[in-house]
Amino acid sequence: MSDTKCSESIVDGECCCNCIHQVRISCHPTNGKGKFDKIKVGQGSILELMGYGCKVCQLFGGDDNKDAIMFMDKKHGMCELHYPKDIKKENEEN
Ligand SMILES: [Zn+2]
Repeated sequence: MSDTKCSESIVDGECCCNCIHQVRISCHPTNGKGKFDKIKVGQGSILELMGYGCKVCQLFGGDDNKDAIMFMDKKHGMCELHYPKDIKKENEEN
């Protein structure tokens, strides 16, 4: 078992938080500031965490999704496309 195993995992330590597909999403100062903005989330400093993104949707939908991420409000979770960060690290070292 890797040292990155998640204590909130339901699958033997594997979790979105230790998957290569997860990224952090930062706030932006202009979010929600427009007069007609309907979306009122993510306003703040770029150093402030807004949520999490999952890049796994890039694997589907062809070119339309090749640079897409899906927003997640939670750090922890699981899906069948989980790929542990420590495996990627081992592969990069070889
Ligand atoms: Zn986790």
